[in-house]
Formats: sequence, structure tokens, C-alpha cells
Amino acid sequence: MVTTRFFSNPGPDGLPKTADAVIIGGGPAGTAAAWALERAQPGLRIVLVEQGGQLGMGSSLASLENFRTCWAAPCLARMMQRSLTVFQNADEELHPGATATLSRKQQGYLFLAFNERGAAGLQQDVNHLHACGLTHTEFLPASEVHTRYPWLGERVTAAKSDPHAGWLDSNALIYAFAHSTQTTRYLLDMRDVSIRVQGGKVAGVATASGMIAAPLVLIAAGAGSRAVGRTAGIELPIVVQPRQSFTTPWRHDAFPEDSPCVISAAPFPHVRPEARDGAIFGWEYRWNSRPALPGEPVQEYLIEPRWPVEHFKDPRFPSLTLALLARQFGHRAGEGFADPRYLRGIAHRAGYYVSRDHTVAYRTDSNGKRHPYHSQRAILDGWPGIDGLYLSVAHVGHGVMSAPAAGEIIAARMLGNPLPDPVYADFSLSAAYVERDAGGLSLPL
Ligand SMILES: Cc1cc2nc3c(=O)[nH]c(=O)nc-3n(C[C@H](O)[C@H](O)[C@H](O)COP(=O)(O)OP(=O)(O)OC[C@H]3O[C@@H](n4cnc5c(N)ncnc54)[C@H](O)[C@@H]3O)c2cc1C
Repeated sequence: MVTTRFFSNPGPDGLPKTADAVIIGGGPAGTAAAWALERAQPGLRIVLVEQGGQLGMGSSLASLENFRTCWAAPCLARMMQRSLTVFQNADEELHPGATATLSRKQQGYLFLAFNERGAAGLQQDVNHLHACGLTHTEFLPASEVHTRYPWLGERVTAAKSDPHAGWLDSNALIYAFAHSTQTTRYLLDMRDVSIRVQGGKVAGVATASGMIAAPLVLIAAGAGSRAVGRTAGIELPIVVQPRQSFTTPWRHDAFPEDSPCVISAAPFPHVRPEARDGAIFGWEYRWNSRPALPGEPVQEYLIEPRWPVEHFKDPRFPSLTLALLARQFGHRAGEGFADPRYLRGIAHRAGYYVSRDHTVAYRTDSNGKRHPYHSQRAILDGWPGIDGLYLSVAHVGHGVMSAPAAGEIIAARMLGNPLPDPVYADFSLSAAYVERDAGGLSLPL
């Protein structure tokens, strides 16, 4: 039985007039929600509307597609462990044959230090992770790094290893979620949909071809979510930040195909092997290090995303990343990451990280003063004041790796079921602060 159904911008005759739930956005968050909703309540009539001509047309296109389990905040650690279980058992959890399509590689993550202070920080991270039960993470002193990974060179003073980490094909994951559903309809090329609210309740979603009446609507539109929220008369508490990545079709000989993903020291340029001969690079490059006007604060986050996001591709990003890695590893011109062959045939991408804003991520001190911080926690919750309106947004830099658990959490919320784990309450709008939920690739201590 062919059950998954895709339609491109159906006219009034083809548009479903009613649904049990409408999901807006067909990235990892939206498709995972469809998968989890159907699993929790088989037969649910779900309509997913995606503005692009195919699923996964948002930030996942720029993603490094990595996953890792070493997260210091319990809610994030639990979320990633559950998601990894799904990746590792994709044939049973998603659909038969999904494992093959995901092309999962579990070659680990290696966070590097280049001095004694960095080494001490990694040791502390690992101590904390062990105390949290993540005993598979390892602290590797310099001698062990040099024995296991001689190609990294003599400058590395220590490493933190997450041997369960790895990467997969994010587009295949999105389609695996979709193909695992039976009763969800996928409407593509759906531009300008808007949420209709009546009497404090969701009434459905209006499209150019008519209305889809539904009691439940999920906003899962990545960086487009604030604009979607406005159609329901609300401002979502999220901000966006452009990020870049690039793939090279070539890799220097010493950098092996079975290498872990290497996270270098601050400012954390990272690289992993890609395909047979290539590599994929990223780092948390400050896209805007100067104030717009003299004296103004540096604008680190944007309220309004600018489209197309490619506007934020800095042409220097690939050469800067390579130069940074070459400097950290001590590669001279023509060697390792300083080999000019890296700069040929680059595919350079940009996408947005979406995060909680200062109204839903802050610590309160003993004087009652609020201190905003950069939270890594998604918002997986209902919107207070509008019955039936839900959010799966702010997946920051890990919305691919966290997608399965995020789908299950929001499905539980939407169906009024208990959360799969009580710690997932930390993804609610009202959880303003959670310990060790900060930083990105650097673990907060
Ligand atoms: C450079 C970079 C590297 C990254 N690396 C990793 C990584 O290694 N591992 C990891 O787990 N994550 C990574 N991420 C983060 C990850 O890509 C995001 O967290 C994830 O894509 C968020 O999923 P999402 O579904 O919320 O949003 P998106 O992936 O942005 O998907 C949103 C979808 O909604 C659609 N949409 C938007 N507006 C509308 C609308 N009005 N109507 C209908 N549809 C709409 C979009 O077309 C898109 O298909 C990275 C991101 C970037 C930018």
C-alpha cells in the first residue's frame, strides 16, 4: 500500500478541507512531528504544508549533519540519546530500509586542546559528563591522542572524545520521517499560508486554495517561524543568527576517511571527512563583528531573517576557516589545511541558527535581576492563550540530531499525553533557565 502522499500546491479541489492537525514547515522539526504524532495516535489526519518544492528547504541544507551525545544539560543529553537510539534502529523506529538511506557513520567527535588550560577544561568537561552518567565520553591526554590519531600532530595537548557521535544524511532523515507516516499528506509549494484563530482557539490554516480547518496547528518553520506566528497575531520569542559551512571535494592525504569529526579549540573551527575524498567544514564565525553605527552594540542576533540567507555568505569564510585550522595545527603553506587544493571546487552554504530570545532564556539573580544567556534549548510547547497552537522552534545548531526526540516531545504536548521523560519540561516556554544550557560546541562549566 502506497500511503505517504505528496501534492504540489493543490487547487481548491485537491486541498484537504479538514485535518486533525496541520504542521507548518517540512524540515527536521516538522517531519519528525508528523512521524511522532502518527506513532502516538495512528490514523491521525495530518496535513504538513511546506513552502518549498520539496521537504527540507531550510537550515538543514547548510547543516554539517552531525550528531553527538556529550551535552552537559540533562534535558539535552536525554534528547540526543533518545534520538541516537532512533538513528541506530531506523528500520524499526522509522521504516524498513531507513537505516540504509540514512548513511549513518559513527566515527565519533574529538574536541581538541592546544595548551594546558584547554586540556584542564576538557578534563573538567569529561568529569562532569561522567557524573551525569555519560561514561562513554573520554578524556585523552596528549600521548593517547598522538597514539590514536597521529595525523593530528604534536601541537594537540589533550582531547575529549565522544565515541558515539557521528553524522548522517539529513535529507534522507527528513524523507525517512515522511515515508514512515501513513496518513499524513504533504502539501509542497505552499506559499503564504496563515493561521486562523477564533475565540482564543486555533481554527485552521488558510491557503491560497482555501481553508484547512483543524483544531491543532504546529509552527515548525525554522527561521520563518516568527513570520508564521504573526499570522496568528503573536510574536514568537526567537532570534536568528546566520551560520556558514562548506564542503570540499578534496582532503589532504593524512586526514583519514575514518577520522572522527574534529572540533578544534576556540573559536571552534570543525571538520570531518565527507564522502570518500572530501571534507565538510564549519565554525561559529561571528557574522557581524562591527556595530551598524559607531557606538551601537554589536548586533549578534537578528529578529527578522533576511532572505535569501545566502546574503550572509562571506566569500572569505572558507579560506579563513582553513587558515585558522592551519594556524592551530601548525601547518605551513602548502601543508595539511594550508594546501591550496582545498580551495578548489568548494560548495559554500549558509543557513540560520534559530534560538530563544532574552524573554525566554535568562537567569534571575538574588536581586531579581534577569541575565539573558544563549540557550541551546528548543521551544517545544503550546502557545499560552491560543488553544491548539504549538511550537517546535529554536533548534539552534542541533535540529537534525535532536529531531526524533523533539518530534516525540511535541507530539506528546499536542495530544495531551505525558512527556516521554519529565526532564523534557525544560523545553517549555516557561523554563527560562536550565543549568549548563549555554555555549554551543564549548561545554559550559
Ligand atoms: C551552518 C549550519 C550547520 C549546522 N550543523 C548542524 C549539525 O551538524 N547537526 C545538527 O543537528 N544541526 C545542525 N544545524 C542546525 C540544523 O540545521 C537546524 O537546527 C535544523 O535544520 C532546524 O530544523 P527546523 O525544521 O526547525 O528548521 P529548518 O531546517 O529551517 O526547516 C524549516 C522548513 O520550514 C519551511 N518553511 C519556512 N517558512 C515556511 C512557511 N511560511 N510556510 C511553510 N513552510 C515554511 C522551510 O522551507 C523549511 O523546509 C546546522 C545549521 C547550520 C546553519
